Amino acid sequence: MRSIAVMNQKGGVGKTTSSVNVAAGLARAGRRVCLIDLDPQAHASLHLGIETTGSADSVYQVFAGARTIEQARQMVAPNLWVVPSDLDLAAAEVELVDAPGREYILRGALENPPAAEQFDYIVMDCPPSLGVLTINALCAAREVFIPLQPHFFALQGLSKLFETTALVTRRLNRELRISGIMLCLYETGTRLAADVTDDLMRFLSESEPQSPWSGAKVFDSRIRRNIKLAEAPSFGQSIFEYAADSAGAVDYGALVDEVIAAEAGRAVERSAA
Ligand code: ADP
Ligand code: MG
Repeated sequence: MRSIAVMNQKGGVGKTTSSVNVAAGLARAGRRVCLIDLDPQAHASLHLGIETTGSADSVYQVFAGARTIEQARQMVAPNLWVVPSDLDLAAAEVELVDAPGREYILRGALENPPAAEQFDYIVMDCPPSLGVLTINALCAAREVFIPLQPHFFALQGLSKLFETTALVTRRLNRELRISGIMLCLYETGTRLAADVTDDLMRFLSESEPQSPWSGAKVFDSRIRRNIKLAEAPSFGQSIFEYAADSAGAVDYGALVDEVIAAEAGRAVERSAA
């Protein structure tokens, strides 16, 4: 099983759009996928057609210890389950401040019963902050995908994210690696997007081998700005259902292929370890 946290502390960079469409694309390719919505705004849940207000079965209940993942998940398509969020989750940030082992609640929930027996992928859509919910995702994941909008300040924000990840790997989860950077809201043909992408690749190639981002790959597939991606959530559908021929579906489809292609490499890594 691969467990992936989709993280960036900035809002509006494509976390939710990428979480939903990558999860949906993997499910269409036959992988069993569980998408965990960790943002109190519940945009990922809504994007897949789940109305969340007042729901008894949400990820908040999982954090409260009142539900297992198995009880809280809902099937939304073949091979695709969602553990929905709920506005209550905003309270968890506060309620968990003094809870012992608060960083590992989600990891514990994924081990009991073992999610690895039910799913091929766990995809976690993080909120736009580095609070306790995001830390829970980073402790439950082995991989981080970072959606990035290539603009002038993008790399500055990225180094903060890298530092946070390094801190988590040192203190809380040694297995965690930044494995993928997704260029979202990409303006094809602009000089700026190309320059930022070049800078990013250079930064990664010069990173120290022991850093948690040393193996990070910038996905070849760029997610172009495409209005269909912005429209799909209000229909409660992934891009593959809403507009299968759109540029958005083509771009996320290609990204999903890259994610799947990396499965072989990971299997080799594991058997070598
Ligand atoms: P985040 O989860 O990081 O806050 P979202 O995925 O919600 O970001 O994206 C922010 C907004 O931009 C949403 O309205 C979404 O529909 C829109 N959006 C995301 N990616 C694209 C894209 N490639 N093209 C057009 N609109 C996009
Ligand atoms: Mg979001």
